[in-house]
Amino acid sequence: LLKGKTALVTGSTSGIGLAFARAFAAEGAAVVINGFGDAGAIEHIRAELADTSGAITLYDPADMSKPDEIAALVDRTVAETGGCDIVVANAGVQHVSPIVDFPTDKWDAIIAINLSSAFHLMHAAIPVMKAKGWGRIITTASAHSLIASPNKSAYVAAKHGVAGLTKAAALEVARDGITVNCISPGYVWTPLVENQIPDTMKARGLTREQVMNDVLLAAQPTKEFVTPEQVAAFGLFLCRDEAASITGANLSMDGGWTAA
Ligand code: NAD
Repeated sequence: LLKGKTALVTGSTSGIGLAFARAFAAEGAAVVINGFGDAGAIEHIRAELADTSGAITLYDPADMSKPDEIAALVDRTVAETGGCDIVVANAGVQHVSPIVDFPTDKWDAIIAINLSSAFHLMHAAIPVMKAKGWGRIITTASAHSLIASPNKSAYVAAKHGVAGLTKAAALEVARDGITVNCISPGYVWTPLVENQIPDTMKARGLTREQVMNDVLLAAQPTKEFVTPEQVAAFGLFLCRDEAASITGANLSMDGGWTAA
C-alpha cells in the first residue's frame, strides 16, 4: 500500500507510535521513528522496522518541545527518504494533578509536546506534501479532545487544541490532496497509561485495582482497553485512497466512552 512513500511518526519508540511505525513498515513505507529511550532498544526497533519494510528506516531524536528540532526532523526526513508523505503527530506526555498544584513547567511542557509540536510539524511538512499533491496528516488526540477528566487540565486543554488545529489544517489543505484527521482513542494499554496509575492512586486515594477498574475502565463501556494495533490499523486506513474524503474529522476509538 505504501511503497515509495515516507511515514514520519513522532513518539514512536513506544506505545501507539510504535504500533503506527510497524503498520506503515508492514506496508513497505520508508519510516522515520522518533522519541526517547534506551539507545540499544531503539536501534533494535529501527532494525526490525527496516527488515519488515525493506525501505529506508531512520531514527531521529528530535525533541517535540523544540520547534527548531521539529523543523530539522522534517528537513532530514525529506533529504534522506525523498519525501514526507504521511505524518503522525503522536508524541505526548501526561501529568496528573489538580490545577492549584499543577507545576507551571509541566503545563508548558504538555502544551509544547502534545499541542504545539503538531503545529510545527504541519508548518514544515505541508509545503512538502503540497508539492507532491498528496499527503496524510494524523494527530493522535484522545477522548480528552472531546470531554474532560479532573486533574488533567493541561492534557485536556492540549488535546482539545489538537482537535481544533486538525480541523483548521484540514480546511486549509482540502484542495491539495492532503487529509488531516485526529484519531481519538480512549484508554489504550501503553506505558503512558501504566505510568499514571501511581499518580492517580495518590491523587484519589485509591488502590491500583480501583484505578484500573473504577477510574480508567469505568469510563469505557466495553470494559476493554483499546490496543495500539487497533489505533494503527485505523491510521493505515486513513492512508488509503478510499479515505480521501475523510478530513477534518475527530475519529473516536474509545469503546463507547464519549457516547455515554
Ligand atoms: P507512550 O508513553 O507509550 O509513548 C509516548 C512516546 O512519545 C514515546 O515514544 C516517548 O519517547 C515520546 N516522547 C515523549 N516526549 C517526547 C518529546 N519531548 N519529544 C519526542 N518524543 C517524545 O504513550 P502512548 O500511550 O503511546 O501515547 C501516544 C499518544 O497517544 C500521546 O499523544 C497520547 O496522549 C495519546 N493517547 C494515549 C492514550 C492512552 O490511553 N495510552 C489515549 C489517548 C491518547
